[in-house]
Amino acid sequence: MPLFCGCFRIYNERMTNIDPALIAAAAFYDEHYAAAQPLFLRPSDKIFLGNKNERLCRFCGLGEQDATFKDEAHAIPEALGNKSLFSYYECDACNSFFGKGIENDLGNWSKPSRTLYRIRGKKGVPSIKKRGEKPGWRIDYEPTGFVIKQYEDDPLMIVDEANKTITFELTRDAYTPVAVLKAFVKIGLTVMPSEELSNFIEAMTWIREADHSKGLVNEFPLIRSFQPGPMPNDVTVLMLFRRRINVTGVPYAFFVLSFGNEVFQVFLPSPKQDAAINGVKLNLPPFPVPGSIDRAKYGNTTVAVVDLTGRTVVRGETVPYAMGFENFTRDEPEADAKSG
Ligand SMILES: [Zn+2]
Repeated sequence: MPLFCGCFRIYNERMTNIDPALIAAAAFYDEHYAAAQPLFLRPSDKIFLGNKNERLCRFCGLGEQDATFKDEAHAIPEALGNKSLFSYYECDACNSFFGKGIENDLGNWSKPSRTLYRIRGKKGVPSIKKRGEKPGWRIDYEPTGFVIKQYEDDPLMIVDEANKTITFELTRDAYTPVAVLKAFVKIGLTVMPSEELSNFIEAMTWIREADHSKGLVNEFPLIRSFQPGPMPNDVTVLMLFRRRINVTGVPYAFFVLSFGNEVFQVFLPSPKQDAAINGVKLNLPPFPVPGSIDRAKYGNTTVAVVDLTGRTVVRGETVPYAMGFENFTRDEPEADAKSG
């Protein structure tokens, strides 16, 4: 059975009430790319990639003689909600190296979104709070819903009760953009069939380079689609694509990762396979995403190219958010905080 096949049918079946641009984009990708079997991941499933009895780390090349393979290696970081996809081919040292390094950057970068989309990491939905010495605003997700605490002299959000929306800005913890990009690329290299790995030798070296000032010339853009409205918080979808044989002029490989309200399209740099497009300005439609179930109510999907090529640490970056709510209760300030 071929590893890559045409799987666009799945998308087409899901697209009712279809935007013509989405149909055109689906046709474009169908013509240029073959897809591996898509993965729909839920916490109740457990899928292990690779062979338990033949341990060889695909990142450092070490086998059982020279490395340990005791820890469960998440193919997608657990912070992004993955509790079901693991690999047998990531050694403990690489697992720890990525976890403390680039995956930490990805975690910091994505945390405000993960809180708001209620994505459960190792310790549940992450809380988010204002950094600093004085107590400030914080957002916690509790069984009753979101609890947002703010101070009168330092408000976090603007509440529009008539339209049932709140808007606010959240601050990201420090991250290095290119490290976030590497963490995304690492996911793609983890799910890549082993027969394809010879095309990604430089990318493998690049994600293992701790010095983020060094790097591949061909850093690809990351395309982020935001699908507004209620979305499940416990389903992760991953689809891997490879350029069809005889097709030229498009990047060799990319994958699509969806969790919460976001869908990321991440290109996987292959200097060997992408030589013909090196330096060429590409004009690809964003990968089509089905979007909200009720566009009239929640709005259209928005698409943006995220530039994650920066190589220095970004601190204190704020991200604007708008959320709708069904019910909102306003608690009075905690009286005992003043009197007690
Ligand atoms: Zn390793």
